[in-house]
Amino acid sequence: MIKINEHYLKLQSSYLFSEIAKRISAFQAAHPGRKIIKLGIGDVTRPLPEACIEAFHKAVDEMASMETFRGYGPEQGYAFLREKIAAEDFQARGADIGADEIFISDGAKCDTGNIQEIFDIDITIAIPDPVYPVYLDTNVMAGRTGNYGNGRYDGIVYMELNRENGFVPEPPREKVDLIYLCFPNNPTGAVIKKEQLRAWVDYAAQNKALILYDAAYEAFIRDDSLPRSIYEIEGAREVALEFRSFSKTAGFTGTRCAFAVVPKSCRAFAKNGQEHSLNALWNRRHTTKFNGVSYPVQRAAEAVYSAEGRAQVKGLTDYYMKNAALIGKEMTSLGFECIGGENSPYIWVDAKMDSWAFFDTLLEEAGVVCTPGAGFGKCGEGFIRISAFNHYENVEEAMRRIKNII
Ligand SMILES: *Cc1c(COP(=O)(O)O)cnc(C)c1O
Repeated sequence: MIKINEHYLKLQSSYLFSEIAKRISAFQAAHPGRKIIKLGIGDVTRPLPEACIEAFHKAVDEMASMETFRGYGPEQGYAFLREKIAAEDFQARGADIGADEIFISDGAKCDTGNIQEIFDIDITIAIPDPVYPVYLDTNVMAGRTGNYGNGRYDGIVYMELNRENGFVPEPPREKVDLIYLCFPNNPTGAVIKKEQLRAWVDYAAQNKALILYDAAYEAFIRDDSLPRSIYEIEGAREVALEFRSFSKTAGFTGTRCAFAVVPKSCRAFAKNGQEHSLNALWNRRHTTKFNGVSYPVQRAAEAVYSAEGRAQVKGLTDYYMKNAALIGKEMTSLGFECIGGENSPYIWVDAKMDSWAFFDTLLEEAGVVCTPGAGFGKCGEGFIRISAFNHYENVEEAMRRIKNII
């Protein structure tokens, strides 16, 4: 008899976005003709940079000719892209990362979701609350948690984020083995300072733990004193993996290209105490289960590093950051406490009421969609996330409407 993986039954139905969709269609049915402005979902709205499109087209043409056609590429990604990433994103910032430590993939969602399978089932995991749900759910699926109740899975160390800690977790008192961090943060928009990140690197070194650092929003950092990579912190090469994506940086959410950084000096232990290289383990996993990102997409991603590409990507992220600044300014002037939006495309707003109630108020009275914080974890209750991914004119209109109802 075919049986299921029963750990899937522990998963909480991801009712967040389906519930939002349901409430939007109910509202739309009751008010046909009313224009809704969506500042909910974390998806970009602007087209790919011109430099990426040119490189993309050129690579497609190469695939059309006998002389330049390419079949399977290296699973880890083409050297032209891995070398650019290592040089530009890391070495240029003083971070000692080599091309053979970069693994190109089709998304940071898959990478942050898949990485857990190279670790033992019995490790202790620390996960922030609120959180990007992928980190938690993939560990539930793997069987690393007990059952769910009261907003909590048994067996997970939750790092509660709140105003007191500025939405930046501190290393826990207890010993954990695997730590998920994401900065600039989705959903809160919070950023981490170098000293705070150093405390985590030191904790990991002392406890033989590993940090998984999701830097998908690195391109939105505007404050030069903030770390863009965990490898700017001394000692991180021994205790941290980093995940990046072209999705939010360069509008690749529908094109798909990302990468994981797995330094050769990162080690983990077998039960007999023997050390193993995580780079070798991940290489084995990646080459066995993944067959590479398409050649034209990798050429398009490479173009992000050209002079034109760089300027165009800056233009893209600046556009969203202008939205974020407007949202932050208007919500603050209406008396809401906000965090994020200065180095991230998300603004986390203290709703001063139940997060679904505030969601309903904004939808029904202003026709504006946000994301209720409670959907990202128990500690998100009482907050909403407003996303800067929309057209500036729509953001202006949304802020005008919210002003009118508050
Ligand atoms: C959007 C996002 C990603 C990127 O996902 P892709 O699969 O590369 O599109 C990764 N982490 C977080 C926290 C995100 O919000």
